[in-house]
Amino acid sequence: MMDACNICNDPQGAPVYKSARPVSITSLCQVLDGLTRVWHCANCGHTQTAPLPVLEKFYAEDYHILTASEEEDQLYAVRAGQKIFRTEHQVATLLEKLDLPPNAQVLDYGCGKAATLKALRGHRDDVVPHVFDVGKQYRDFWNAFVPAGNQAVNEVPKEWAGRFAAVISFFALEHVAEPKAFVAEARRLLHDGGTFYFLVPNLFANTADLVVADHVNHFSESSLHRLLSDAGFAVREIDDTTHNSAWVVVAEKTNVNSEPIPATSVADKVNTMAEYWREFGDRVRAFEKVNDAEAAIYGSGFYGTFIHASLDRAKSVECFLDQNPHRQKQTLLDKPILAPEALPETVRRLYVGLNPRVAREELAMMDWPQELEVFFP
Ligand SMILES: [Zn+2]
Repeated sequence: MMDACNICNDPQGAPVYKSARPVSITSLCQVLDGLTRVWHCANCGHTQTAPLPVLEKFYAEDYHILTASEEEDQLYAVRAGQKIFRTEHQVATLLEKLDLPPNAQVLDYGCGKAATLKALRGHRDDVVPHVFDVGKQYRDFWNAFVPAGNQAVNEVPKEWAGRFAAVISFFALEHVAEPKAFVAEARRLLHDGGTFYFLVPNLFANTADLVVADHVNHFSESSLHRLLSDAGFAVREIDDTTHNSAWVVVAEKTNVNSEPIPATSVADKVNTMAEYWREFGDRVRAFEKVNDAEAAIYGSGFYGTFIHASLDRAKSVECFLDQNPHRQKQTLLDKPILAPEALPETVRRLYVGLNPRVAREELAMMDWPQELEVFFP
């Protein structure tokens, strides 16, 4: 159970969302046992998910995000036929927002492969890279560009306190059960005036974030502001436009805390999203009932997996479709992931497993067989 808000400690009442089946889906599209349960805090605007009991084991053993190869990367956007990958966009944004001094000591905290830090070094080879994560499965990637003494697993060396001009973090804080401890640690490692720069998902731009089982924290502008100002940071920027479906946050270690911002309630928005997900499985099954022709699911990410898990007869799904060439080499739930152009001729039904904000637009960019019946999320 969740007794109190992760950010402001306010007592939590009834959950706003509980999954219909005792099955939960992670951000890496793994289907795990256990209910997904989500609470919203009206006091600070934070939304939080009860950590799955299996979560700790999951990070230590199963959480191999994009470790298949060095080049593997998530597709960020397709613009004018050009594919833009996530790391490339993240480093461009970082360079735009962060004014790093020459020879800056930079720590990627909760870094995974540390792909953005590596790409940053491609633009700024004076930057002194450091990495930290829980679990040593990424060592091979770090060894390519981070001296061994600048790598830390599970525990940060004592002498790193107060060392850094910037602590950067990409999509880590949403996973941690104690975000206040994470932020306090970032502050401890920065020198005075240093910058804490991080990205976390923006629930309000991607509704799936509400039901992703391994995202414990779903931030709003006000809960981010509260978290940082309570920890002794001056909030410089909370940007919801530069990175799709994410908050880009810039905060400075100071001795003057930010003034609280007036709380704008996001409770109605969160409740609307919870209702959407409560009904989602029923909508999928209503479409499924019409006939049992062969089907495909467009999108091999979270939405596609959620659709697959909602079906009564998942057998009718022949394949997933995905534009990301890295995904096309893989399988999901034992089914092949194909390029959209490779849609088998026998498939008559298509479930679109994409963010509903972009689903129709993205589908309209391609040619599809006339007779294809389509489910939109
Ligand atoms: Zn709260």
